[in-house]
Amino acid sequence: MRFTVLGSGTNVPDAERGPAGFLVSVQGQSWLVDGGSGTLQRCAATGVDPRSLVGGFYSHRHPDHTGDLVPLLFAMHASRRLADYPIYAGQGFQAFLDGLVGVYGRWIELHPPATTIVTELALDAPATVDLGALVVHTRPAVHSSGALHLRFEAEGRSVVFSGDTGPSEALIELAAGADLLVTECAGSDAVPADQHLFPSAIADLVRRARPREVWLTHLYEYVDVALAVATIEDAGTVVRRAADGDVWSG
Ligand SMILES: [Zn+2]
Ligand SMILES: [Zn+2]
Repeated sequence: MRFTVLGSGTNVPDAERGPAGFLVSVQGQSWLVDGGSGTLQRCAATGVDPRSLVGGFYSHRHPDHTGDLVPLLFAMHASRRLADYPIYAGQGFQAFLDGLVGVYGRWIELHPPATTIVTELALDAPATVDLGALVVHTRPAVHSSGALHLRFEAEGRSVVFSGDTGPSEALIELAAGADLLVTECAGSDAVPADQHLFPSAIADLVRRARPREVWLTHLYEYVDVALAVATIEDAGTVVRRAADGDVWSG
């Protein structure tokens, strides 16, 4: 399994970091995980044509996580993609997509018989998506806009993505023993952001869930990166701030 960081940033425009976007790849097939603006370009830069993605997962509907959905569907429409495009996301995503189609019309609809198939996942209970080579477990996150935590399992390895969230018992449960935890760290201990994580909360998670490695994303500019890394490292794991283009292989 390969996990690629396409966007390690936030809603704040940044010359080096795009809004949230990731790829999970198993046996030559790639799924998109979130897709803020600029994700398609960075996906193409890694050598994966976004039009060939097998499907997509969305942690929630905020624009910094979904901004490139319209360009993605338009690209698939224009290239006359033959395969359906499955999307897995929290409850409410179908209405969100219907709203986008209401604005853009057929330009973001695949040519029949191909279609975009949304599978909505529970926001009040655990859910599992079994795609054969890839199994994905979700839990409700502490955030708005239908937010989920996601755990990707393939080839005996596991990667957990927090999505956006406040401190979350469900994330601690889901991250137990993960090979890699990719977690937002939007705020600092001194200035925690509402419905977001901060270093000491992630340190608590690490002590209880024992992920082998932690990558930090979604840091607002006022977060002291060195202090955040040191705080979480003290809990007993390997920590780094993720950068766009980083690839984890396991
Ligand atoms: Zn959000
Ligand atoms: Zn966000």
